[in-house]
Amino acid sequence: MSIVEKVPDYIRRIVPYVPGKPIDEVEREYGIQGSAKLASNENSLGPSPKAVAALRDRLEELHLYPDGGCFHLRNALAAGLGVEPKRLIFGNGSNELIELAVRTFLRPGDEALISQGSFVAYGLALDAMGAAVRKVPLKDYGYDLEAMARALTPRTRLVFLANPNNPTGTIYRRPEWEEFLERVGPEVLVVADEAYFEYATDPDYPDSLDDRREDRTVLTIRTFSKVYGLAGLRVGYGIAPTEVVAMMNQVREPFNVNAAAQWAAAAAVEDAEHLRRSLDLNREGLAFLTERLTALGVQWVPSQANFILVRAGRAGHVFEELLRRGVIVRPVGPEFPDHVRVTVGTPDENRKFLDGLSQILEGGAAV
Ligand SMILES: *Cc1c(COP(=O)(O)O)cnc(C)c1O
Repeated sequence: MSIVEKVPDYIRRIVPYVPGKPIDEVEREYGIQGSAKLASNENSLGPSPKAVAALRDRLEELHLYPDGGCFHLRNALAAGLGVEPKRLIFGNGSNELIELAVRTFLRPGDEALISQGSFVAYGLALDAMGAAVRKVPLKDYGYDLEAMARALTPRTRLVFLANPNNPTGTIYRRPEWEEFLERVGPEVLVVADEAYFEYATDPDYPDSLDDRREDRTVLTIRTFSKVYGLAGLRVGYGIAPTEVVAMMNQVREPFNVNAAAQWAAAAAVEDAEHLRRSLDLNREGLAFLTERLTALGVQWVPSQANFILVRAGRAGHVFEELLRRGVIVRPVGPEFPDHVRVTVGTPDENRKFLDGLSQILEGGAAV
């Protein structure tokens, strides 16, 4: 029997992640130019200029291995967050931290709990481990933490929660979160994926870093890919009790975060101006989009993130028709057959999307 035939069934069954289309691929396919990429929740303002400058300044150092401990980035972030530096762990994107959590804390056959209609990376990492995965449906487009608490079993080791959720943009609030934690034992790691936390404005958005609950184990994961505009460099971070970080470090590759990513991220942390501009642009863009969508008679899900889930009509059709008009959005899978997810762009990009959508609606794509 060949080695390939020896690959376990749980690996063969994995359905690969399909990323948002790159701009140049779409432009080649459709013979268009200047299209708006609103498919992957990147920062439409681009990276922090300070991050770009920091990178330029240090290009001559690329022959050196990176600092495996991310010393400068760690200290810059820890100071801003008010947490001890040793509670931080860094990843090649926060996606690597998802993988690390799975590889560190799960054995094949252990159980993990996730929600339907959420970030697909959790399921992919769990499937690659041969984990038993329980999926709880969303309720009104949001996490149903009450139902998730009921789905915990004595074999559950990991729970993944996205707050704000991708693709719906919804959040769970402090009372639900506190209630959920009450019902999770110390033998479970709760992963709070906060890739979009900077955008959340709801006063009841919970603080997952509050570590007063000694017997509850929370790993908060965040990223430089979204509001910091560094998706191409791949760097994310996690905050957890030091013992959890220490165990994940047992598995972590020594140079998992590249040098350029560390330089740029450390500079981006200090760029309060870029952060503020990005958040302002998002707030204004969301207000503009929701107002215009409502005027068009199109339903949307209230968002605490930098994207919005829009009930625009048959997802495949709307996606294709928008592509033709130079607007790349994201169909988000079988749970949402009548929705597309749209990243909040610049005012021009937002208008381009709305113009495209109103043309399509006139053509009769409605639900
Ligand atoms: C975009 C996103 C991430 C970020 O992934 P990176 O690997 O850090 O680029 C993580 N979680 C969710 C829910 C996301 O939407």
